[in-house]
Amino acid sequence: MRLIMLGAPGAGKGTQAKKVAEAYGIPHISTGDIFRANIKNGTELGKKAKSYMDAGGLVPDELVCDLVADRIAQDDCAKGFILDGFPRTIPQAEALDAAVAKLGCQVDYAVNVDVPDSVIVNRMGGRRACVGCGATYHIEFNPPKTEGICDVCGKELILRDDDKPETVQNRLRVYHEQTQPLIDFYEKKGVLMTVDGTRSMDEVFGEIKEKLGE
Ligand code: ADP
Ligand code: AMP
Repeated sequence: MRLIMLGAPGAGKGTQAKKVAEAYGIPHISTGDIFRANIKNGTELGKKAKSYMDAGGLVPDELVCDLVADRIAQDDCAKGFILDGFPRTIPQAEALDAAVAKLGCQVDYAVNVDVPDSVIVNRMGGRRACVGCGATYHIEFNPPKTEGICDVCGKELILRDDDKPETVQNRLRVYHEQTQPLIDFYEKKGVLMTVDGTRSMDEVFGEIKEKLGE
């Protein structure tokens, strides 16, 4: 099963993608996580991506398309994968089409987690990320057992720079301009599945599972 997650930043794509990946035994591939790991490790890719990410903009297509094409060609993706945060532009979606065609397969579902902007602002403002393992929490909806400390690895939890209020508005604008058109793109292909992302995490996952029906 080959899936992509669509939705505004902070809609809950990562939260649901992790659950789907675990339930269906397929790798969860988050381009945001890949860039953050590269920034942490001081790689060339990380250095190039950082300024775009800090400003709430998109990293240029040429830095992300080949990276994803290589990743989904790896052995652990043979039975499927779930992409989270990619594609984010029409050229990225076209590059993904070409990459899956080369592998002799296609995107089976585009899961659109639908959440209005008014809810997004609170989701991103309350999100906390672990500096060690990258696990995410929400101060209200998914708090860690001990405030400010990661349940998984015990390291510190922080507010991501790009989740600060001044950047959130820019990320939402970029989403509406460049990523939202993908909803139509995948609807025309007949693979779009829209779920109500305003409900609880478990309810959203229940709706996804029911619609996947596999
Ligand atoms: P995305 O990957 O789309 O940017 P995340 O999965 O990181 O979004 O979710 C953004 C924030 O909202 C996180 O802090 C997460 O814990 C929280 N969250 C995710 N889904 C829900 C939900 N259904 N209800 C309430 N909070 C949620
Ligand atoms: P995310 O963790 O998915 O919210 O991504 C964080 C940031 O990484 C985004 O705001 C972008 O700057 C960058 N990014 C992640 N995925 C992509 C992508 N597919 N295309 C361009 N930029 C991306």
